[in-house]
Amino acid sequence: MTRFEIMNKLLDQSLFFKLVCGAGNEDIEEVKKLSMLYTLAGAKGMDVSANPKVVNACVQGIDLAISMEAQFNIKISVRPFITVSIGMPGDHHVRKAEIMLENCIKCNLCIPVCPTDAIPTNLIVIESKCIGCGNCSAVCPVNVIDYYHNEKNLLQILPECLKAGAEQIELHAAIKEDEYIMKEWEIVNSINPNAHVSMCLDRLHLSDFALESRIKKAKEISGDRLIIQADGYPMSGGEDDFNTTLQAISTTDVINKRFNKKLNRKTGKSNYKKINHINILMSGGTNSLSTNLAKQNDVRFQGVSIGTFARKIIKEYIEIEDFYNNIDNIKKAYLIARQLVIDNVGDVNLVTKDFLN
Ligand code: SF4
Ligand code: SF4
Repeated sequence: MTRFEIMNKLLDQSLFFKLVCGAGNEDIEEVKKLSMLYTLAGAKGMDVSANPKVVNACVQGIDLAISMEAQFNIKISVRPFITVSIGMPGDHHVRKAEIMLENCIKCNLCIPVCPTDAIPTNLIVIESKCIGCGNCSAVCPVNVIDYYHNEKNLLQILPECLKAGAEQIELHAAIKEDEYIMKEWEIVNSINPNAHVSMCLDRLHLSDFALESRIKKAKEISGDRLIIQADGYPMSGGEDDFNTTLQAISTTDVINKRFNKKLNRKTGKSNYKKINHINILMSGGTNSLSTNLAKQNDVRFQGVSIGTFARKIIKEYIEIEDFYNNIDNIKKAYLIARQLVIDNVGDVNLVTKDFLN
């Protein structure tokens, strides 16, 4: 079975749990430890910063976990897929904002919404600080904020990441301007033409209609390689309650209703199609209750991505000195991580034992 087919199988059976190490997380040791622990726990995806050194740390973490199988009495029959994320806070590889000062009315609305303080009072965007998040253009009343691409940067860095061991690329594409995103999407697809590609979308700047239209365009380019990461409220997953995860379920539901369900005219009920048109990973505020809430509401998904919450629950164990030699500490962290994976997608290592037959 090819890696592409294995990935499809994980998605078809809703077994794909992805640990998000964080696009801005370039702490090599932390990425290695997180990758090791969550590989042991059953995660089948690791999402890391688009930096070959970070990808390499993730590969090392996965290798370490595989070398520890016997100690943990588990079988990791499917090696996790490594995704590199571009275009989200912490990442500097994609688009940069530029204010057309000649038409700007100097209302200063864009300054406080910038998460990285990239817009000073003279309104000349500080390039090195801009992460292309789209907050400024979303509030600008006269549409004078434009973007330019870091295309060269992408064309150089992404192949290096693939060479280092990444297999998938994810583009964070929730800004409202379509043309910039679709250009970046074409680049991502051309760099990795035979593997799954993921587009991460939320509804902060996109209406339901704009979300739908962007997914359609993405599908036209990627076909069955497309995964949509449905972000609820990005990077909000610190708490373990239903409210925190509510929007992740909601975004997933909106996409399902448009692409994965159809109305039965006789019964007047909307049912899921037999074959998914769009594979969805829930994310953004995901925690140990995400699957629980999705199931209560009959919201289907093909996988779950967890970042903030997954990292937070094992933080104290990761930070301990002499981490690799303290097996009791590793086991404690493993059990916590494993429970989070089980809560969301079940005992994946157990299921995938017979997976490749
Ligand atoms: S795109 Fe985001 S990071 Fe860049 S200037 Fe605008 S608000 Fe700031
Ligand atoms: S929001 Fe638009 S018009 Fe207002 S200061 Fe910023 S760029 Fe100028």
